Amino acid sequence: DKKHRLAIIGSGNWGSAIARIAGGNVSKFGNLFETEVKMYVHEEEIKGRKLSEIINEEHENVKYLPGVKLPENVVATPSAVEAAEGADLLIFVLPHQFIEATCKELRGHIAKDARAISMIKGVEVKNGNIRIFADVIEEILGCRCAALSGANIANEVAEDKFSETTIGYRPNDLATAELFHKVFDTPQFKVGMVEDVAGVSLCGALKNVVAIAAGFTDGLGWGSNAKAAVMRIGLMEMKRFSEEFFQGVKPETFTETSAGIADLITTCFGGRNRKCAEAFVKTGKSFEVLEKELLNGQKLQGTETAREVHEFLKARGKVEEYPLFRSVFSIAYEGEGVKGLTSKL
Ligand code: NAD
Ligand code: 13P
Repeated sequence: DKKHRLAIIGSGNWGSAIARIAGGNVSKFGNLFETEVKMYVHEEEIKGRKLSEIINEEHENVKYLPGVKLPENVVATPSAVEAAEGADLLIFVLPHQFIEATCKELRGHIAKDARAISMIKGVEVKNGNIRIFADVIEEILGCRCAALSGANIANEVAEDKFSETTIGYRPNDLATAELFHKVFDTPQFKVGMVEDVAGVSLCGALKNVVAIAAGFTDGLGWGSNAKAAVMRIGLMEMKRFSEEFFQGVKPETFTETSAGIADLITTCFGGRNRKCAEAFVKTGKSFEVLEKELLNGQKLQGTETAREVHEFLKARGKVEEYPLFRSVFSIAYEGEGVKGLTSKL
């Protein structure tokens, strides 16, 4: 049988952490996978050197995952098309704002039998409609797309600290999930599977909005009870929103998987969205400024998602039914006082 060939489309904090795992596993299952894994790097210069060259020479993404060595079979390339060439397993791990343009560039350049998996935490909102990125990728590239999401702070995964994650697969396509399970599962990174691509994707996107609210409570010094309340109400809004606007999502994805409750917990305590939201309260600076000052090129997903979800709900006349989502939007974008966070809950 032909061996599977992987391509990683993205190389940020999470993209690099996942490249480390996937690069290791393809070597372990050499009978199933080709050893070389190409990784698309959005090119930039660092002290006069190209990031893709630094990664290939030093086997380290010095900007987005400093201090962690990548396996030598992971090969960086500044071209998404070149990365995907000949690959039948495509891993999409870019901040959500860059997916559409990158997929359009790839259109017509992927293998006929290619399958994809989306690790993106975000949603697309356009003309009053909402889509998960697995669906966007399927539509643009014409290949089947699963999703992977979980309680996975990238730096912890990169240091082999124990984590779980969840693969969401399409109806009757356990085979694809099992193949990706081989790509990602390790003793320290335990992969579960659930037949629910939309549920897994929506958990990953919407928990970032709740994490902004959790960061606000930290900034206000409101303590653990307040944060727990915001998380509980947030989880309810995440689940209700997903069940209202997406068919077939499973309630247990929210309450029982790593993609659901566990990711909500870790992001509300240890994530970038939480960190920037706390700083928003303490410094009075805008999220745009804080993202630049605190994240060194990494991207916030929660503020964008709060805006996109608000735009979608507004178009449907449903803003009032999701008071926590609404408060996050109003505080982040409309100058509403952060102390009003819980006033409409
Ligand atoms: P990141 O935020 O660390 O880095 C930003 C990346 O975007 C960099 O690789 C940068 O080169 C790239 N970029 C900038 N401009 C670009 C452009 N115009 N076109 C293409 N790429 C461009 O990225 P990340 O953490 O790997 O995030 C990718 C996705 O993974 C996000 O949806 C995120 O929510 C999700 N995720 C992140 C973590 C985490 O802990 N970092 C964990 C799980 C999931
Ligand atoms: P942040 O983007 O808030 O850091 O969250 C990372 C994450 O998705 C952890 O699972």
